[in-house]
Amino acid sequence: MNWASIQSVPQLYEKAQKAFEQWSEMDLKKRISLIRRLRFVITENLDEIVDAITKDTGKVELEALSADILPVLDGLEYIEKNATKILSPKRRKTPLLLLNKRSFVEYMPRGVVLVISPWNYPFQLSMIPVVSAIVSGNCAILKPSEVTPLVGAVIENLFHQANFTANVVQVAQGDGSLGSALIDFGPDYIFFTGSVRTGKIVQEKAARKLIPTTLELGGKDPMIVFADANIDRAVDGALWGAFTNCGQVCMSVERLFVQNSIYQQFVDKIVEKTNALTQGSGDFDLGSLTLEQQKNIVKEHVQDALNKGAKMLTGLPPEAWSGDLFIRPIILTNVNQDMKILSEETFGPVLPIIPFDTEEEVVLLANKSNYGLSSSVWTSDQERARRIAKKLLAGNVVINDVIVSVANHYLPFGGVKQSGIGRYHSEIGLRNFCHEKAVLIDKGKRPFELQWYPYKDKYPAFYTLIKSLYGKRRAWLKVANSGLKLLKQAKKK
Ligand code: NAD
Repeated sequence: MNWASIQSVPQLYEKAQKAFEQWSEMDLKKRISLIRRLRFVITENLDEIVDAITKDTGKVELEALSADILPVLDGLEYIEKNATKILSPKRRKTPLLLLNKRSFVEYMPRGVVLVISPWNYPFQLSMIPVVSAIVSGNCAILKPSEVTPLVGAVIENLFHQANFTANVVQVAQGDGSLGSALIDFGPDYIFFTGSVRTGKIVQEKAARKLIPTTLELGGKDPMIVFADANIDRAVDGALWGAFTNCGQVCMSVERLFVQNSIYQQFVDKIVEKTNALTQGSGDFDLGSLTLEQQKNIVKEHVQDALNKGAKMLTGLPPEAWSGDLFIRPIILTNVNQDMKILSEETFGPVLPIIPFDTEEEVVLLANKSNYGLSSSVWTSDQERARRIAKKLLAGNVVINDVIVSVANHYLPFGGVKQSGIGRYHSEIGLRNFCHEKAVLIDKGKRPFELQWYPYKDKYPAFYTLIKSLYGKRRAWLKVANSGLKLLKQAKKK
C-alpha cells in the first residue's frame, strides 16, 4: 500500500492546483462524459470492488454490492443527468430600481477540495463527494480512512482506468495525522464524513483559516412505531435498520420506540427474528464489526446498560463475546436516558426498545438527543405520519421505511444538531462545491445612473420614490415616474 507522507502534502496540492487550470476550463459536457465512463468502469470491476470492501470492512458481499456500490452508480447517473441543469447560469429577476439591467447567478468551482471519508461505507462516502466536487471543475484530494486502504487503492485505480486527466483526483492514504496536515495546508473546501469528535476538530481547524466545510457526522436515529402500523413490516424494517452493516451505519436505528398497546407483541416477534439471523463471511445476513476499537465502544455501551438494569433479550453479555469481531445482535429493554445506549452513538448491532403511549410523549423522547441525522415514523395514518415528521429534529425522515431517503439522490442529505453541518446529494450537493457568483449586466449605453454623483438636489427625488414604492399606498406608477423625472432633472442641472 502507498501511504502518503506528511512531507508529500505540499506536492499533492501543487499537482492538484496545476490540474485545476486545465480541468476547470474543460467543457462541462466533457467532464460529464468522463463521469459516465467512470460508471461503466465501476460496473466492469464489480468483483474487485466487492472484494476490497468486504476484506477492509468485514461486511457481507450483498451489503457491499447493494449498499456501497449501487448508491454510487445511482449517484453518478444522477450527476450525469442533472449537472448541466444544476450548474448552468440561472437568470434572476431584476428589480425596478435597477432599470435596464439583467441578473444571473453563475457557478464557479472553488479550486482544490479535500474529501475525508470514514470506513463504514468506504466506497460510497468517498466516491459521491469526490465526483460531486469534480463535475463543476474542482480537483479533489481524497483521504480515505486508514481502516479501509484497499478501497482507497481501488478508487484510485478506477479514475485511472476511466482516463481522467492526471491529478484531478488524488488519493492520499494515511491516518488522522495526514488528514490534519491536509487541512493545515489550506484546501478551498473540506467535505468531511466521520465522527462528531473528529468533525469538531476539523471544523475548528477550518475556522482558523476560514475554509468552508460540509460535515456529515454521527447519529442516534429514532424509529417510532404506532399501534396502527403494519406490524410485520415494521418488525422487519427495525431488524434491517438496526443490524444492517452490523449496525455500523450513521442512520442505523439506534432507538426504537413502540406504542404500548403493541409493545409486547412487537418485542416477541423481533426477538424471534433476531435469533434467526445468520452471521458470517459470505452469503449471510450479518457480517462482523469492522475494527477492535468499535467493538470496545459497543462493549462499553452494552455493559453500561446492563449495569444500570437493562434486560438483554438476544445476544450475549460482553464477558461471553468471542475474541473475533463477530457479535450476535443484541436487543435491550428496560433502558433509560441515563444509559450510554440511549445517549451516545453505539455504531454496532444493538437495538434498545422503549415503550410509549402518546404522540406528544414520543416526539419529546425522540428529540431528546444531541444528534439529528435520520428518523422514521411507522403508522397507517399518513396525516399523523406527516404531522410527526414535521416535529422531528432530524435532517431526514422516512415514513414506513428506514434509512432509504439517502438512496434518493434527488433529495438532500445531512443532519441537524451534532449530526452535521450542510447537505449533499441533490442540487445543493453540486452547488456546495461552487462559489455562487452574482452577475449583473448593463449594456453600458446610458451616460449615468441615478444614484451616482453628483448628489446635489437628489434627496427629495429619492424620498418620493421610496414613499411611493414601499409605502402603504402604492401610487407607485404615478409617483415613481415623478420621482424619476425629478432625479433626471437633478442630474441635468
Ligand atoms: P472518524 O472521525 O474516526 O474518522 C473519519 C476520517 O477522519 C478518517 O479518514 C480519519 O483518518 C480522519 N481523521 C481522524 N482524525 C483526523 C484529524 N484530526 N484531522 C483530519 N482527519 C482526521 O470516523 P470513522 O470512525 O471513520 O467513521 C465512523 C463515524 O462516521 C460514525 O460516527 C458515523 O456515524 C459517521 N458517519 C457519518 C455519515 C454521514 O453521512 N453523516 C456517514 C458515515 C459515517
